[in-house]
Amino acid sequence: MKTSIQIGKIMGIPIKLHITFLLILPVFAYSFSINPSYFGFSDVKPAIFRYTLSSLAAISLFVCVLLHELGHSYVAKKHGTNIQSITLFLFGGVSSMEEIPRNPKTELKMAVAGPAVSLLIGSTLIIIYEFLKTGSSYFPGEPVLRFIYLVGFINIILCIFNLIPAFPMDGGRVLRAWFAERMSYIKATKAAAGIGKMFAILMGVFGFLTVSIGGFWFMLIAFFIYIGASEEEKSTEVSVILEGTKVKDIMSRNILTVSPEMTVEELVDLMFKHKHMGYPVVDNEQPTGIVTFNDVQKVPKEERKLIRVSQIMTQELITAKEDDDAIIALKMMTVNNIGRVIVKNDGKMTGIVSRTDLLRSVQILE
Ligand code: ZN
Repeated sequence: MKTSIQIGKIMGIPIKLHITFLLILPVFAYSFSINPSYFGFSDVKPAIFRYTLSSLAAISLFVCVLLHELGHSYVAKKHGTNIQSITLFLFGGVSSMEEIPRNPKTELKMAVAGPAVSLLIGSTLIIIYEFLKTGSSYFPGEPVLRFIYLVGFINIILCIFNLIPAFPMDGGRVLRAWFAERMSYIKATKAAAGIGKMFAILMGVFGFLTVSIGGFWFMLIAFFIYIGASEEEKSTEVSVILEGTKVKDIMSRNILTVSPEMTVEELVDLMFKHKHMGYPVVDNEQPTGIVTFNDVQKVPKEERKLIRVSQIMTQELITAKEDDDAIIALKMMTVNNIGRVIVKNDGKMTGIVSRTDLLRSVQILE
């Protein structure tokens, strides 16, 4: 399922909005319209002005989160790390990069860049607010001044919130970089993730105790931080283990492909026979899609005779090159939430690498 939409490109990086972000945006706009000064515009009249300011504030929030992420991306690109996309989620943005630099100094600079951008925007806006507030009493209008202050304030919160020393917050990365100067990368990650989890538990308890006055949000954030810290720990371990392993070392070469003309019923027979859950769809030697058991399940049994593979396959092909690092293939699968990646060499499909291939080699190398 597609859970995010691309809205454009900045610095060559695709910018995507996750569905959770689209859902939260009107909630923010609404809460700005019912909150009193300085956190909202409930007293502003006429109503149309109030809703305009509230919506603009919500959109500014989005722009500021994006600028924060672009801060990370800019430094990452400068150090030669490729950024695949920036996705804006419920609680902020995530830059998916091919590989988090293993150099603590670079990671530190990258982690700090985002909060630095937020701090810069926030303090600039608050200085502008202070300046205009004393400068003139009628221009540019009191609600607009408050708007500037609010957006500035949001940026300061964004900066502080992200510096919480817990993965996946930037502060967690700063902490790991600090540890990594003193111990091995895996140990540094474990230590930073441990602190992150502790933070999450404390925050969760705090949220539970204050649940009557909005602590629920803290519990939710704590949950995300806990999951984020555990995932970062695991993925770092895997990426260190897979270091030096290329896609061509672990991919399956003799793969069964299917034709787009094949009916779903024939495909199901094939799946039972070969006990494989996913197949590349090849038309005239060109890979045109991928079809998995998930796609088949969506077709009612009685229609399987009539519907063809081309109608249910995923057309968006995610491919890796033979010489890519194995970890890149794993990241592609995680980012796109898929189980296998097609391997191409000189435009031709040469194999396929699946999650199972990767996990098996992790087990062997371990
Ligand atoms: Zn950040």
